[in-house]
Amino acid sequence: MGRYTGSVCRLCRREGVKLFLKGPRCFTEKCAIDRRSTIPGQHGAARPRLTEYSLQLREKQKLKRIYGLVETQFKRYFFSAERKKEITGEALLVLLESRLDNIVYRAGFALSRKQARMLIRQNHFQVNGSAVNIPSSQVLLNDFVEVRAGSRALIPVKEAMARVEARGVPDWLELEQGLFKATVTGRPTKEAMALPVNEQLVVELYSR
Ligand code: SF4
Repeated sequence: MGRYTGSVCRLCRREGVKLFLKGPRCFTEKCAIDRRSTIPGQHGAARPRLTEYSLQLREKQKLKRIYGLVETQFKRYFFSAERKKEITGEALLVLLESRLDNIVYRAGFALSRKQARMLIRQNHFQVNGSAVNIPSSQVLLNDFVEVRAGSRALIPVKEAMARVEARGVPDWLELEQGLFKATVTGRPTKEAMALPVNEQLVVELYSR
């Protein structure tokens, strides 16, 4: 199945929870979840009976939607997490959180992961001093991500940086705001991710 190109607020309404896909708008009263929290579609107001399978499926969909992945990409992350010698659910979250587009978003260089992906593809970032334009690149411990010198005056970057204090940066990332540089100083923790997802249900879904 191809990439979803419709309204992202619809995705939040489908999951019944804020997935924060739209940047600053998510924190205003314009948020679609705050205004109309029913599931989209003709029968959205009806309360469907949730089976064990549908609960697991919804958790997987939330995670996929938060990180902007299609099914095949998500499955690949799951199977690499499964091969690691740690709890699969946690390993999955760490792999997703270590994507370059997520680091750019978490460090405050972009207002959303979607915007981060766009900026990365346009070649505005460096990892450890080298240009990288692949949003899915894994950023590892002690790696640093910088906005390229010629891209620091870009309006989306400036807008995002203006909000970084209000948004906050997770404790496993060290941001040097004046240098437009963020270094990975630790392992992403579930607490700092604060995701509205039960990753254990995702593991159960794929273990069926
Ligand atoms: Fe989701 Fe943000 Fe849209 Fe609210 S504004 S529904 S949190 S994407």
